[in-house]
Amino acid sequence: MIEASEEVYSSLHRHFKGELLRPGQSGYEDARVIWNGMVARTPGLIARCADVSDVQSAVRAASETGILTAVRCGGHSLAGFSTCDGGLVIDLSRMRQVTVDPEARRARIAGGCLLGSIDSATQKAGLVFPSGVVSHTGASGLILGGGTGWLTRRFGLSCDNVEGFTLVTADSSVVSCNSKDNPDLFWALRGGGGNFGVVTEFEVKLHPLTSVVLAEGLTPESGIRRLLEVWRDFMAAAPVDLKWNIDLRLALHTSKVPIELRGRPVASSSLIWTGDPDAGRPYLQRALAMCSPDSVSSKIVSFLNLQTMADFDFPHGRRYYTKSG
Ligand SMILES: Cc1cc2nc3c(=O)[nH]c(=O)nc-3n(C[C@H](O)[C@H](O)[C@H](O)COP(=O)(O)OP(=O)(O)OC[C@H]3O[C@@H](n4cnc5c(N)ncnc54)[C@H](O)[C@@H]3O)c2cc1C
Repeated sequence: MIEASEEVYSSLHRHFKGELLRPGQSGYEDARVIWNGMVARTPGLIARCADVSDVQSAVRAASETGILTAVRCGGHSLAGFSTCDGGLVIDLSRMRQVTVDPEARRARIAGGCLLGSIDSATQKAGLVFPSGVVSHTGASGLILGGGTGWLTRRFGLSCDNVEGFTLVTADSSVVSCNSKDNPDLFWALRGGGGNFGVVTEFEVKLHPLTSVVLAEGLTPESGIRRLLEVWRDFMAAAPVDLKWNIDLRLALHTSKVPIELRGRPVASSSLIWTGDPDAGRPYLQRALAMCSPDSVSSKIVSFLNLQTMADFDFPHGRRYYTKSG
């Protein structure tokens, strides 16, 4: 019996404009790998689409054969939902165009974009799309799941900033939706995840912002309970310009960390202020008062620096095990 992936390959290979990669072929091993090294699967065929018509062909072939199919944008699904064993991967990594309209403060984002490709295009116009905190994360998976990040308090979730989607549905037709056309589908795609079709383009709102104040500090174990109580009460009424993240962790053994805290349980606060720096000072001081004075820092950083500063903490290929976040 012919393998389903061979059947899909036969139906695609004559007119497919992107790449079709099968096990053993050059480029297949690199294309197979996703971000979480814990999920090592071997698809029968990876269809790296060049454009929307390639996506339609791949979806049509998948429907006709019934082959197990996964869709991939940035490959950052922790559980590995963007790959499969023996089946077809519809890989959008060649579709990374971002078109910005600075006057209208709008952008069109192709379905294979990483967050970094969006940030570098929108910052050329001094604009931002609110997304996540690691620039090598895929935009499609993040937006379709909601999308939180540094700018969530100020501008809302990523999906709240989408005004329209274009997708290829299971019958391989291209469908658009927004608040007026196909409003139910529009509602579902804003946070409902994958499985409604393959999104090939997002139309999104942008906002003016090029830099923020970034403040950081560590609270020793004995002060963590009080810190969390203050955070709970303070943030309920704080301006939306302020974002205050707290990680509970063991402090690193680096020169930036006071000697007495190294290797000890701490609360690590990271705050940003997106408004006028002077107006933010009292709020940042209030929060940093809860931290060990030697551990505190505050500086203005560019938006691109903010968006990439955690990139190296989450490298590709490690065996990540996550229970919650
Ligand atoms: C290092 C790291 C940092 C993260 N930071 C944040 C963060 O700051 N904020 C946040 O909200 N989340 C964050 N996440 C979670 C992240 O949003 C999800 O893992 C998301 O699914 C990743 O999207 P992706 O496109 O890279 O994933 P993929 O693995 O490519 O896809 C994830 C899911 O979306 C589906 N999918 C992908 N593309 C499409 C498409 N075009 N159309 C339809 N379905 C599609 C896939 O089939 C799969 O089910 C982070 C994850 C990692 C690993």
